[in-house]
Amino acid sequence: MILVTGGAGYIGAHVVLELMSHGEDALILDNLCNSSRSSLERMASISGRRPVFVQGDVRNRGVLDTLFHEYSINAVIHCAGLKAVGESVREPLRYYDTNVGGSVTLCQAMKDAGVFTLVFSSSATVYGDCARMPINETCATGNPSNPYGQSKLMAENVMKSMVASDPRWSVGLLRYFNPIGAHESGKLGEAPTLTPNNLLPYLLQVASGQRPALHVFGTDYETHDGTGIRDYVHVVDLAEGHLKALQALRAQRGVHIWNFGTGQGYSVIDVVKAFERVCGITVPLSYEPRRPGDIARCWADPGKASLELGWCAHRSLERMLADAWRWQCSQTHAFDTQVG
Ligand code: NAD
Ligand code: UDP
Repeated sequence: MILVTGGAGYIGAHVVLELMSHGEDALILDNLCNSSRSSLERMASISGRRPVFVQGDVRNRGVLDTLFHEYSINAVIHCAGLKAVGESVREPLRYYDTNVGGSVTLCQAMKDAGVFTLVFSSSATVYGDCARMPINETCATGNPSNPYGQSKLMAENVMKSMVASDPRWSVGLLRYFNPIGAHESGKLGEAPTLTPNNLLPYLLQVASGQRPALHVFGTDYETHDGTGIRDYVHVVDLAEGHLKALQALRAQRGVHIWNFGTGQGYSVIDVVKAFERVCGITVPLSYEPRRPGDIARCWADPGKASLELGWCAHRSLERMLADAWRWQCSQTHAFDTQVG
């Protein structure tokens, strides 16, 4: 059985679906601080299988010990964490406690239970403002400009030291670039409860009439149209990569870093235009100054994951946007029904 922490969340739920569709048993540990039980219903309705779910906190050593004692867990995919950059600036202790402290507690419990295979949800933010594009795994990690990024880098460093001290570990550090999109059924996707920080959830709320305009942060970057460039990757491609990483880690020990991106960068305006083309909706824009802490360009060299895992992201930007819009429409409909 695979323990997926944060498995009720956006990425974790897609990972759980992927595991179940490959015949793996999944056990979810999630405290539901940024998700709800409805994602479990949605997973069951898509796959016809229901993962085991335990509501609990990854920082709670007692809960972890009980899980390792009661279930036959042979690997962990650690997605539980807090991810809002702005919130991390306001509440750094909560971020370090969950993202670093939670990871330390989990690794201690794993070690004591004799489970040494771990896949970790890291982020391209650990590279900081890298001068060279595309970014490959040999690029030095930078100095992330916010506590969220710092917490991911610290958790990675904890895991690297742990592996160096004990050869029994197999750890995969997955550096996600910009995950977007939704399950093609339209039944599972990202459901932000607060004002979204990230480009796509905000754009979707503008397109569905919940917000007046998309703020375009910065029009004077050194890019082809002045707006920031990122590497957007479909969440289902990402989920498939977790399974490949797990398979690779079962065959080799040590610490392994893999970039999870497409290798293709798109600007904010490229994304907006593609969305308008694919979904037939005009997105009102409001041009704003740069957002503090943002970098101009960031895209992956995903060659190492392709070579070592046989993984590459193959869903196009258009597909990501169409799937995300299908999900958004199903959400908006549910909302209308609730309030109507
Ligand atoms: P999410 O918020 O949808 O999912 C995270 C899940 O973890 C939620 O269900 C939440 O309830 C749970 N959780 C949080 N703290 C917990 C705790 N202490 N104990 C147990 N459960 C807890 O976020 P996501 O987008 O699915 O991100 C998953 C992971 O990937 C996170 O670690 C995030 O930092 C990382 N990541 C996300 C992105 C992105 O853009 N979505 C990019 C890079 C890295
Ligand atoms: N962005 C934007 N408006 C928004 C949110 C984001 O113009 O409402 C831009 C942001 O400046 C960056 C890109 O979109 O260039 C991706 O931002 P996001 O927050 O989604 O990801 P990250 O900055 O973490 O890569």
